[in-house]
Amino acid sequence: MNFDLSEEQRIIRDTARRFAKEVITPHFYKLSTTTEVPYDILSKMGAMGFMGVPFDPEYGGGGGDWVSLHLVIEEVSKADIALGALIDVTTSVVAQEIDRFGTEAQKREWLPDLCAGKTIGSFALTEPHCGSDAAALKTRAVLEGDEWVLNGTKQFITNVGLKNCPLVLVAARAEIDGQDQIVTFIAPKNSPGFIVGRSYHKIAFASGATNELVFDNCRIPKDSMLGDPKRGFAQHLSVLETGRISIAAACVGAAQACLEHALAYARERIQFGKPIYEFQATQFKLSDMAVKIEMARTLYLKAAWLKDQGRPHTFEAASAKLYASEMLEQCASDAVQILGGNGLMEDYPVAGIFRASKIMQIVEGTSEVQRIIIGRLLASGAHI
Ligand SMILES: Cc1cc2nc3c(=O)[nH]c(=O)nc-3n(C[C@H](O)[C@H](O)[C@H](O)COP(=O)(O)OP(=O)(O)OC[C@H]3O[C@@H](n4cnc5c(N)ncnc54)[C@H](O)[C@@H]3O)c2cc1C
Repeated sequence: MNFDLSEEQRIIRDTARRFAKEVITPHFYKLSTTTEVPYDILSKMGAMGFMGVPFDPEYGGGGGDWVSLHLVIEEVSKADIALGALIDVTTSVVAQEIDRFGTEAQKREWLPDLCAGKTIGSFALTEPHCGSDAAALKTRAVLEGDEWVLNGTKQFITNVGLKNCPLVLVAARAEIDGQDQIVTFIAPKNSPGFIVGRSYHKIAFASGATNELVFDNCRIPKDSMLGDPKRGFAQHLSVLETGRISIAAACVGAAQACLEHALAYARERIQFGKPIYEFQATQFKLSDMAVKIEMARTLYLKAAWLKDQGRPHTFEAASAKLYASEMLEQCASDAVQILGGNGLMEDYPVAGIFRASKIMQIVEGTSEVQRIIIGRLLASGAHI
């Protein structure tokens, strides 16, 4: 067994680490307190090739692996977790789904700009009446001549409100060979009847765009269907599995930031005549944080490695997402505690990370949904 990163993986991680520290971290206050989208940072991330890491150079990708992409997500999230989540949606979900299931024409149309970060992707599964029970979605697609006509409302859609997001992968019901199926479509944002609705005010991810999305007799070309019409839901769930690894990597990055902030603060802050680091109560919190972060990191790297080997990783992806998002809440809470009153001020990033940890326990399948997935695997004997 070899736990070392390859030379290439190490270089990509170190490059992302340097970039995050120099380009993103200085803006943490603005990123966590204003709803201004950091387009300049997004375009610099794109120019670094972060969004295209695991894809074929023929489509503008970096020709790297999924471990490398997740190392990038960890490092970016250490500086701003919302930007890590943006890479998750764009690369792990949207670009991957087009790469794996798209036609040659769809790949050539969408992948190069997604890989270059010139465009940002979004996907729309959740609806007002269904989130965890995603298969209950009601958005409907009807074929009329050479066009599909979409009707329905989606909610909580990440990235669709960005001015450089030109597409959404939308899951909709359609009649295929006389049967009701969930089909995935690539819906261009400039289609008639494509309405980006209200922007939500969230407790964290201030600078990340999350919007309602309405399809009002939205007309998209017949060839906008993505992949096998009878397996649209399954193919979407398969890329969400990668999304879980990405959310885990993002949580590890943010938790690492909490540890580093808390450690630095504990060394500096003098109470009762000595740095608070010298109180064992403080050291124990920091030690527990470091152990939990390492466990979560090992889990997500194993899941990404299994994906690179083409091996099943449902258990590992669900475990990594579940453990890392709950670990982040504990680490961020302990970091706030170590910073005392300062921990509750936006001058330090830990309070914003604490709030973001709740988002991470909800998106891409709640903690309960991850436990259901793991429970099913245990019941079937697949993971014993
Ligand atoms: C910031 C943000 C960004 C998002 N981005 C996107 C996006 O880009 N695209 C998209 O499609 N969606 C997106 N979502 C939606 C997200 O995936 C859903 O919020 C999530 O899947 C949960 O669905 P829900 O909110 O409807 O909660 P519900 O499904 O209503 O769940 C409510 C509670 O019930 C629990 N629960 C539900 N079923 C069970 C069960 N069987 N057993 C035990 N407990 C259960 C849940 O775990 C949860 O605690 C986003 C959400 C947020 C907050």
